Amino acid sequence: MKYISTRGNVNEIGFIDTVLMGLATDGGLLVPEQIPQIPVEKLQAMSQLSYQELAYEIISYYVDGEIPEDELKELINKSYGTFRHPEVTPVQKIKDNMYVLELFHGPTFAFKDVALQFLGNLYSYIAKNTGVTINILGATSGDTGASAIEGVRGKEGIRICILHPHGKVSKVQELQMTTVNDPTVLNLAIEGTFDDGQRIIKEIFADLDFKNKYHLRAINSINFARILAQTVYYFYAYFQVAKEKDIKSLNFSVPTGNFGDIFAGYLAKRMGLPVGKLIVATNENNILERFIKDGVYQPGEFRGTYSPSMDIQVASNFERYLYYLLDENPSAVRERMDQFKTEGKIVVGEDLLRQVQADFAAHGVKNGECLQTIKTYYADTNYLLDPHTSCGVAAYEKASVPEEVCVTLSTAHPAKFNEAIELCNIEQTYPEQIQQLFDKPQYLEVVEADNEAIASRLEKLFSSAQ
Ligand SMILES: *Cc1c(COP(=O)(O)O)cnc(C)c1O
Repeated sequence: MKYISTRGNVNEIGFIDTVLMGLATDGGLLVPEQIPQIPVEKLQAMSQLSYQELAYEIISYYVDGEIPEDELKELINKSYGTFRHPEVTPVQKIKDNMYVLELFHGPTFAFKDVALQFLGNLYSYIAKNTGVTINILGATSGDTGASAIEGVRGKEGIRICILHPHGKVSKVQELQMTTVNDPTVLNLAIEGTFDDGQRIIKEIFADLDFKNKYHLRAINSINFARILAQTVYYFYAYFQVAKEKDIKSLNFSVPTGNFGDIFAGYLAKRMGLPVGKLIVATNENNILERFIKDGVYQPGEFRGTYSPSMDIQVASNFERYLYYLLDENPSAVRERMDQFKTEGKIVVGEDLLRQVQADFAAHGVKNGECLQTIKTYYADTNYLLDPHTSCGVAAYEKASVPEEVCVTLSTAHPAKFNEAIELCNIEQTYPEQIQQLFDKPQYLEVVEADNEAIASRLEKLFSSAQ
């Protein structure tokens, strides 16, 4: 299996180099040269596997022998051994034809653990076996940072620095990141917004001398390994629902920000999983809803919502989908991305829009609708949705046909976003692991949103001995 860039200017590289490269050097995103096709008989055989066994089967198509079988199996078992539920990502039936896929049973109670536990162990494997230094730098609006720190803390040969906007993440998110006392973990709370953090990171990564000197690696969702780990649970959910119901195909409703999670579902479909509609559930930051309905991809005005992990204007994984929409033609992708840069939007015509709408439906959930859905489901089914999952469920209500079976992805535990749950006048008890965070000391440094200051702090961290 070789990987190429959506913009066509990266020579074919293998899986490990793809993980290390993160963003493609030509500015595009890395994709497999060919998507593996899983035959129907093989799918049938896979349906009885445990989560870990299934993960091995799917991931090994893409690793393609670069990691020996026993080590890849061990890496996967270690990654999902930290989950609190024996099924890793269990499926719950909520009502007729409506299921929720709980992705929040990992260490930080959000779905990003599924990918970042795997990526953390993968980086650790690469550090050990190739001697490459892994210094991770990332910006977060909350969940990615906590999850990435949890994925790599205490692992030999890895150091990590995460920028988060000071005072602008949920209390639990802040505690999860900053209560880790480890000299290889640095939390910088910047006096600014998530967008400031993202911009600073991008500029530091763009300084190739600095990047190469300090072996900087990325953990954001443009890394193909994250997408790959997430395809597994689409298969797993399908097989669980198929065990109790005769289904020809299955719809998925996916709370979406960067288009990473839902792209993993699209990939599963292209691999041969019988997926019907993929429902893009956005909040009021609805660039993706507008694209799927009207064929115009154009950022709008930033809105703060109850689902902050989806408060995103430019969906960084969208380019991967665009590549497939444009028949895997890199020069067409370059043209569209240039158009986006100069005109601030991408517009697709009737034919392409029909293709988009064959695979996707969409609904942008308003703030009030998000809270109302939490209240209604709690009252009617006694199931407490977090505000991101609530967007998924509200979009399911709007966009799925009731006779069709649909799984909504539950991307976070409600305890992570109690600010929204309180507004619904619902009292919840925190899980023990979250409750105990409130008694721990915090380790963070507050810094100006200034490249120079941050770069010199990084030099200190990344040149320290481990
Ligand atoms: C990151 C995140 C999302 C959005 O996922 P994308 O892959 O960016 O689309 C949704 N919900 C929660 C809780 C998240 O942390």
